[in-house]
Amino acid sequence: MIVILKKEHDTHQLDELRRWLEGQGISIQVNEGVQSTVLGLIGDTSAVDSDLIEALEIVETVKRVQEPYKKANRKFHPEDSVVDVSGVPVGGGHFAIMAGPCSVESPEQICTVAAAVKAAGANLLRGGAFKPRTSPYAFQGMRESGITLLLEAKKQTGLPVVTEIMDIAHIDAFADVDLIQVGARNMQNFELLKELGHSKKPILLKRGLSSTLQELLMSAEYIMAGGNENVILCERGIRTFETATRNTQDISAIPVVKELSHLPIIVDPSHATGFSRYVKPLALAAVAAGSDGLMIEVHNNPAKALCDGPQSLTPAQFTDAVQAVQRFLAVR
Ligand code: PEP
Ligand code: MN
Repeated sequence: MIVILKKEHDTHQLDELRRWLEGQGISIQVNEGVQSTVLGLIGDTSAVDSDLIEALEIVETVKRVQEPYKKANRKFHPEDSVVDVSGVPVGGGHFAIMAGPCSVESPEQICTVAAAVKAAGANLLRGGAFKPRTSPYAFQGMRESGITLLLEAKKQTGLPVVTEIMDIAHIDAFADVDLIQVGARNMQNFELLKELGHSKKPILLKRGLSSTLQELLMSAEYIMAGGNENVILCERGIRTFETATRNTQDISAIPVVKELSHLPIIVDPSHATGFSRYVKPLALAAVAAGSDGLMIEVHNNPAKALCDGPQSLTPAQFTDAVQAVQRFLAVR
């Protein structure tokens, strides 16, 4: 349920209303927007008499919210949320470009790529340390030492870093990571999401391989319900019958999520398409559709990459793609 207050409202009466609702076991999220103040009521509101609330002098309207996601719901928070990633704002008109290799492989590799993506215009550095691989025989990532190298590249470039967590048991290694990624395969690892809800770090939540947008928003809700509202969503392609690309980039996810939620949403055209030659056109499609950012895999030598080489751009290809993205951003 949401309660929209009149523009000028008496704070005493508001306090009284809050106390009354809280007395019924309902928690309240107050969003003071430019246009209006919205109270989001979370909990079992079935016994709450909406007519009684609507009759109060300070109340403009009361609406029941059908969707199961509350904190992630735009009805609870009409304005776009801006997530601050160590000084880099994401969302609400602030466009983020996260780039770097699929996996951190060596000090030279990550530092070379970090410098190249920074020069091209990226504002966040990505690099996998704990890698979710389909095969147990494939490179599993450098794990803790991969994060150490990522932080070294951060020191050299000043770029905040994003890397994936697979198990909450590893959380100590993420103490200096700026943005913690939950990958597609863990989007519905609810115990992990609950734990990250207790963290203060921003979370990049990637859409599951076969997850609906409602499921994506419910996973965001798990993190937010725990008190961490710094969630950035990521459309990274979904499984369809099409085999020409690794996944199918769901462009419609962007306007749909923007309608349903206030959370920023970015697009990962690398994992969505699986081929470097499709990354630039799909990145531009994401910009045109209203994405708040991009995540793009870049490798100094894609042919030798230990993971996801075929979809990785060279620094030169990335520079070209970013220039095109910036031209599109200027006119959207
Ligand atoms: C990644 O970002 O390297 C990754 C594994 O992505 P996804 O979870 O989207 O497959
Ligand atoms: Mn990858």
